[in-house]
Amino acid sequence: MKNLLPTSTAGSLPKPSWLAESETLWSPWKLEGDELIDGKQDALRLSLHEQQQAGIDIVSDGEQTRQHFVTTFIEHLNGVDFEKRKTVKIRDRYEASVPTVVGAVSRQKPVFVEDAKFLRQQTSQPIKWALPGPMTMIDTLYDDHYKNREKLAWEFAKILNQEAKELEAAGVDIIQFDEPAFNVFFDEVNDWGIATLERAIEGLKCETAVHICYGYGIKANTDWKKTLGSEWRQYEKAFPKLQKSNIDIVSLECHNSHVPIELLELIRGKKVMVGAIDVATNTIETPEEVANTLRKALKFVDADKLYPCTNCGMAPLPRHVATAKLNALSAGAEIIRKELSA
Ligand SMILES: [Zn+2]
Repeated sequence: MKNLLPTSTAGSLPKPSWLAESETLWSPWKLEGDELIDGKQDALRLSLHEQQQAGIDIVSDGEQTRQHFVTTFIEHLNGVDFEKRKTVKIRDRYEASVPTVVGAVSRQKPVFVEDAKFLRQQTSQPIKWALPGPMTMIDTLYDDHYKNREKLAWEFAKILNQEAKELEAAGVDIIQFDEPAFNVFFDEVNDWGIATLERAIEGLKCETAVHICYGYGIKANTDWKKTLGSEWRQYEKAFPKLQKSNIDIVSLECHNSHVPIELLELIRGKKVMVGAIDVATNTIETPEEVANTLRKALKFVDADKLYPCTNCGMAPLPRHVATAKLNALSAGAEIIRKELSA
C-alpha cells in the first residue's frame, strides 16, 4: 500500500434509485433479466467512480450486485430452502423471517467471482471484497438439518474458503469477512467462531480482514445500542484470541461509539480499519472530527497499520450523504497524513 493511512469503506454503498429502492435494506430490484445484469454492472461502475472521486484508496464494488450482505451469498448455495421460512431472532436482537437449512450445504458455483473480475478490470487500485463470516451466516438462518450451530459454521467456512480462493485468483487484494455476530455471542466466538474464520482464510496469500460492528444504522440496532450502557466493552471478549489469529486486519466501529478506544491495545500488531464515519446518522462528519478519531486510535495502532474506514456499510443512507461522508473520510485522513509527515 503506497500511501500512509489508506482509506476504504466497510462495504456497502447506496444503490442508484433506478436499480433498487433507496434507503432500504433487502430492497427489491427495479430491473429484471439482462437489464438487471447490465444495471448492476453500471451501478458498480458508478459506485467505483464515486469512491475514486472522493479519493478512497482501497476501493470496492459498494455491494451493488447484492440485496443483502448475508442473504445474497446464501441464495447461491445448495441445501438452503428460501421458500421454507421461519422467524428467528437475529443476533439476539430482532426477529426476521429467514430461509431454512434443509440438507447438506454446498456451493453450486462461484457467487461473486465474475463481479470481482469485472471490478478488477475497471481499476488498478487495491480492491477489497466482503463476504459474510461463518458465524454471522448461521445466525441468519433456521437450521433444520445439522441442528448444531458449530457444525454448520464449519461447513460454511469450507464454502467461504472455496469462494475466497477464487476471489484471490480474480485479483482481489483484501478479502473481508463480516462478523457482527462476534459482538454478541462471546462464548461461541472463542470456542469456534475465530477458528471457523481461520478455516475460511486457509491457504490465502492475499490480505484478510474481519469486520466487527454494531450493525447498520437501522432502528433495531440503534435501539439495541441504547441498552449497552456508557461503555461498550464487547470487543474486549474477542480481541485476545483475534490478536493471536492469522487474520491480518480488524475493521471496527469507533466514531460516535462508546467503545473505549484503549481496547485497541488488545489487538496491537494487527492492521486496524478504524471506523471514523458514523453510518447511523445523516449528519456529515467534519474532516476535523474524522482526524480526531484517527488521532485517538493512533495511540494504540501504529501509523503504518492504521486504515481509516467507515463504521459499517452505508447502503441504507441517502446517496448524497454517503458521498459527502466519503469526502470527509478522505479529508480527515489527509489532515493526519500531514501531521505525521511534519
Ligand atoms: Zn458492519
